[in-house]
Amino acid sequence: MNKFDVIIIGSGLGGLLCGYILSKEGFNVCILEKNTKPGGNLQTFSRQGKKFETGVHYIGALRPGQTLARYWEYFGLMDVLQLQQLDQDGFDRIAFGDKEFPLAQGFENFIGRLLQHFPGDSSALNEYISKIQEVVSAFPLYNLELPGDHREQQYTDQSASDFYEKLSCSANTASGIPLSSVLAGNNYLYGGSRLSPLYVASLINHSFISGAYRIIGGSDQIAKSLTEAIKSQGGTVITRHEVTAIEELKQKFTIKTGNRELFLSSMVISAIHPATTLAMMPADMVRPAYQKRIVSLQNTDASFILYLSVKPQTFPYLNYNYYYHSSPDPWDESTATDTQWPKMFLLSTGCHMPDQKFTETVTVLTYMRYDEVARWMNSSVGKRGEDYLDFKNARAQKLIDLVSQKFPGLPAAIEHMEISTPLTYRDYTGIPEGSLYGIQKNYHDPQLTAVMPKTKIPNFYFTGQNTNMHGVLGVTIGSVVTCGEILGLEYLLKKIQHG
Ligand SMILES: Cc1cc2nc3c(=O)[nH]c(=O)nc-3n(C[C@H](O)[C@H](O)[C@H](O)COP(=O)(O)OP(=O)(O)OC[C@H]3O[C@@H](n4cnc5c(N)ncnc54)[C@H](O)[C@@H]3O)c2cc1C
Repeated sequence: MNKFDVIIIGSGLGGLLCGYILSKEGFNVCILEKNTKPGGNLQTFSRQGKKFETGVHYIGALRPGQTLARYWEYFGLMDVLQLQQLDQDGFDRIAFGDKEFPLAQGFENFIGRLLQHFPGDSSALNEYISKIQEVVSAFPLYNLELPGDHREQQYTDQSASDFYEKLSCSANTASGIPLSSVLAGNNYLYGGSRLSPLYVASLINHSFISGAYRIIGGSDQIAKSLTEAIKSQGGTVITRHEVTAIEELKQKFTIKTGNRELFLSSMVISAIHPATTLAMMPADMVRPAYQKRIVSLQNTDASFILYLSVKPQTFPYLNYNYYYHSSPDPWDESTATDTQWPKMFLLSTGCHMPDQKFTETVTVLTYMRYDEVARWMNSSVGKRGEDYLDFKNARAQKLIDLVSQKFPGLPAAIEHMEISTPLTYRDYTGIPEGSLYGIQKNYHDPQLTAVMPKTKIPNFYFTGQNTNMHGVLGVTIGSVVTCGEILGLEYLLKKIQHG
């Protein structure tokens, strides 16, 4: 009964996109998902009828003809999603204390808007834009082209923070904030670590400067559309089935789920964290050196998030994301604990309809180290105890106090608050330590932190944010790379290019 060509573990964006590609190509695909709904970070949740995003606040390169839009046309997503383009003159606002700086869409506009604050930095801004364009051009799949010459490798061992800090630029005269800090001001998008390679920052920033969008009504629509398409192409998506063991005998895989069901296939794609995947295999299935490397990899830090329902017509819809930093140095803010915490926040308002004046929901994100909640690591949702609730509420108040310095009207507007900690994300998506984006890419040793989609186990593959890159665009391209290993990348790219 439970026999398939391909079993995909996890129905986040990576799992769903691979399921879409392979079912379209005639494979009998089955996706196994532990949660009640498919989608992982694409999922939304509702409180008092108000819908919150969990892991997608904005998406880059979605203007018709741009990279992600071209990929998503193949997946049938561009026909079903209603998009809200963020403010062209400042899709991100970067604040240090009282001073705010816009990051604008369009490369010339980006330079022009920042020149108003850094009039002497024309050459530094041009150098910045030229560099991110140069990096993107070295990654052919970011232009739907077949990789060939491996030019991208030269950017994997360069540091993002070094690049920003070595730009010969000045400080804003009114505030003393350096241009390099402003350019790195949205580094929460890649975890804000000084270990981050230049290519990660460049690919992400390039996509948002090209075109930054929100999905009106929520990114769960991506999961719904892909799930329906997979089913209509003959595939199967099974929720409430947590994979607990993976075995292999003579290139046939047996997948066990928590409810003791068995699933058989000749091919497996794991769309969950590689370390979690390997922990489900018998020791002799993988080489010890590989196991040791994957298990030892550091993950990006985790998050602490407030999901705020606000009273009707009390808080404006902001058609941009607001990044606030309490010091001029935006790097390694995730290390703050106790009295120094929080050092930054990202505030994003929910997008429920086109041209809305007010928002129903406000989400405030900051970092939180897993160590801070590790003492409750053996607890589960709703059963973590009073001291955990006290900790959560005290931290929420600290974060609201910081946010109120910029948005004084927020506390009075709050109707209801949900709080998530690293433990919430750990238990929700299964990611180790509730990490924001999975494995921390490290420019000091790019090979060490690279997880290839094709493994040494024949017909066993990885996909999702830990392979190519995190983020909606990174995971989309990663799914094409993974399925390209199965179908042939040239063949698959032609299909995507020509619909
Ligand atoms: C707070 C936050 C904000 C973000 N904001 C943005 C943003 O604005 N823009 C952007 O582009 N990206 C953003 N990202 C990143 C982006 O959401 C992720 O990189 C991407 O969605 C990851 O997709 P994935 O398929 O790799 O993994 P996931 O979405 O984590 O999916 C993994 C799936 O596997 C399931 N699973 C886990 N273990 C098992 C098991 N044993 N058996 C069965 N199923 C299992 C999980 O339940 C989940 O459904 C954000 C991430 C976070 C956490």
